[in-house]
Amino acid sequence: MRLFSREKPKIKISTTKKDGFSGWLKCTYCTELIHANELQRNSNCCPKCDYHYRLSADERLNSLADAATFKAMFTDIQPMDTLDFQDTEPYIKRLESAVEKSGHDEAVMVGCCQISSLPVAIAILDFNFMAGSMGSVVGERLTLIIEHALTERLPLIIVSTSGGARMQESILSLMQMAKTSAALARLNQAKIPYISVLTNPTTGGVTASFASLGDIIIAEPNALICFAGPRVIEQVIGQKLPAGAQKSEFLLEHGMIDCIVRRHELKDKLVEVLEILTANVPIKK
Ligand SMILES: [Zn+2]
Repeated sequence: MRLFSREKPKIKISTTKKDGFSGWLKCTYCTELIHANELQRNSNCCPKCDYHYRLSADERLNSLADAATFKAMFTDIQPMDTLDFQDTEPYIKRLESAVEKSGHDEAVMVGCCQISSLPVAIAILDFNFMAGSMGSVVGERLTLIIEHALTERLPLIIVSTSGGARMQESILSLMQMAKTSAALARLNQAKIPYISVLTNPTTGGVTASFASLGDIIIAEPNALICFAGPRVIEQVIGQKLPAGAQKSEFLLEHGMIDCIVRRHELKDKLVEVLEILTANVPIKK
């Protein structure tokens, strides 16, 4: 008689059942089994270890903005393949697949909304669209929303998640770093607050431009925030990086960010910071 097996336990993946349960997931961080619905209810944070899984731009917006207050702007600016670029696949095809995958027309959505009744200008990057990479349209929409915040005197919030500049747009994407930074400098001169929220992962040209220029920089726990990723750096210097390097906690310790805020507390923290930053500044209320 067989009393036990040394084989690895098999995880049974259930399909949708009557109660709406859509299956088990294994947390990649703590390896515990978690309920898909429970994960969703918990804002995509693991209920066992609190690992923060990514949110889409829509989910992020819903978690921050007051219901039905968001008005999308600059949606008429659409991506195009100016360079007629092709790697393993034509850029135009990649754009089409990204639209299908993300349900959005670009890797950023910008507009105005209210957060606990405070009007703000907001931009949210979406990792589902070509890894949240910054091409010309992302840079242009960001610049336009920064300029809108400037003319309307609205505080600005940008929530980043990005693989960096979009390689398929070459120098055109790199120019967006300078353009967004210059627009933020004008916002800064006008003393209008800008809060940058960094989520997993924020890397490359996005970290090296607007994402690091917030008056206050908030990060989610355990987020990878870097210019070049750990694998690239280890290959270049021929050494292992210390444990946790380039994660939010490491960056907080080294003064690169101001605070780490759990997703559940992010909205309250934004309101608290906005109230402090706008107390003595004439902004739209
Ligand atoms: Zn977990």
